[in-house]
Amino acid sequence: MNKEVAGGLDADELARLHREHLWLHLTNHRQFDHQEPPIMVEGNGFIIKDALGREYVDGLSGGVWAVNVGYGRETMVKAISEQLRRLPYYAGSLATPPYILLAQKLAALLPRLPKVYISNSGSEANEKAFKIARQYFREQYPRRDKYKIIYRNRDYHGTTLAALASSGQTERKLKFGPLPAGFVEIPHALCYRCEFGKRYPGCNIDCARALETVIQTEGEDSVAAVIVEPITAGGGIIPPVAEYYPLVQEICRRYEVLLIMDEVVTGFGRTGLMFGHQHYGVDPDIITMAKGLASGYMPISATVARKSIFDRFLAEPEDTSGYFRDISTFGGCTGCSAAALENIRIIEEERLAEQSAAMGTYLMASLQELAGLPVVGEVRGKGLLVGIELVADKKSQSPLPEKYLAQVVAAAKAEGVIIGRMVRSVPELNNVLYTAPPLIIDKAGIDKITAALRGALGKLRV
Ligand code: PMP
Repeated sequence: MNKEVAGGLDADELARLHREHLWLHLTNHRQFDHQEPPIMVEGNGFIIKDALGREYVDGLSGGVWAVNVGYGRETMVKAISEQLRRLPYYAGSLATPPYILLAQKLAALLPRLPKVYISNSGSEANEKAFKIARQYFREQYPRRDKYKIIYRNRDYHGTTLAALASSGQTERKLKFGPLPAGFVEIPHALCYRCEFGKRYPGCNIDCARALETVIQTEGEDSVAAVIVEPITAGGGIIPPVAEYYPLVQEICRRYEVLLIMDEVVTGFGRTGLMFGHQHYGVDPDIITMAKGLASGYMPISATVARKSIFDRFLAEPEDTSGYFRDISTFGGCTGCSAAALENIRIIEEERLAEQSAAMGTYLMASLQELAGLPVVGEVRGKGLLVGIELVADKKSQSPLPEKYLAQVVAAAKAEGVIIGRMVRSVPELNNVLYTAPPLIIDKAGIDKITAALRGALGKLRV
């Protein structure tokens, strides 16, 4: 046997078992017919190591932008294990101290949204938000049916069927229909590919105004909520212009439509502020959060809402349907709440949102130097959430085919840097590379990411 990696097994044996048994997320397993399956075994800071002992700068925070505080945090391990020893689990209508303390902490971070509902994944948090919005209006206006949810093209809100129905990434929806009814799409807010053929600032922010048109067409009495990612992540890294969300909010208020912001990726310092919506000075009615909430050390998500929304669910004792009849079995995992509490303590104590802003500025400046390369259409992002849109031709902005993006990701990996790319999300436009490293990354780490990208993009022959 070669060197043991885990469970008494070496890398070859793990790879054999991998091929035999795994059915991985978002993976075409055919690729493993002719290449070794990657197996990650340990991490420290922003560095991860695979089963063959190779080290990488993790430019993706655990593959899906989750590990905000970085790897190897002893205090996280301690907080989780102490709680598990004391009481690992209790759910249903009974609370536990970590849950109470986490709710208090989140309410302190978002004082206008002091009611905290815990579950375990981003999809679940969004499903809860939709259910809350629908029931809220049914309690408020029993004679109307305000139930529709409006979402944007290119945004992603999750994998469960209603969360998928609310996602504007059509390629992810293929073959899973019929999806739940009552979800209506509006255009995205990416200036580089303005769906209205306009140019900012002379565009009247038509992308935001499209919301009003759809509310009017659908009928304001039928629309419950609009859901947006404050800065679209997987759909191509899209930070809208400053005027966009204030206008969206104004339209929501005018038609009594709830504004749900999905901060599953953008929360907890990722974009240089604690929450992504704070860049825009808006005041959402519901926020969902997950990944950076416990940095992936434990699976936890939250749906937080205004008190005025919560108050609608205060039913009479004999009323069996007026309260929120929803549950999440593992939302009661006390170790998850303990992990989230310690994670937030670290983010605050180490000022990781500020660190993300500073390192993000440095990363953007370095990547802007690549803007002269023939394939680089646009570099965009906020904080440590950055994308590079690749084009075959700068003038026509025709998207670079996915196979070239796959080549760049593979070349960067060969240089010891993990970056990501859009994977079959939006028809014809899977042409954005991204990086979102742990917020503790330093300039040397960022230099490695930019050097790997410069090398890989420079070598690309289109
Ligand atoms: N919302 C956004 C913005 C996401 O990026 C994701 C996951 N990538 C989700 C929701 C769904 O989260 P989960 O995979 O934990 O269900």
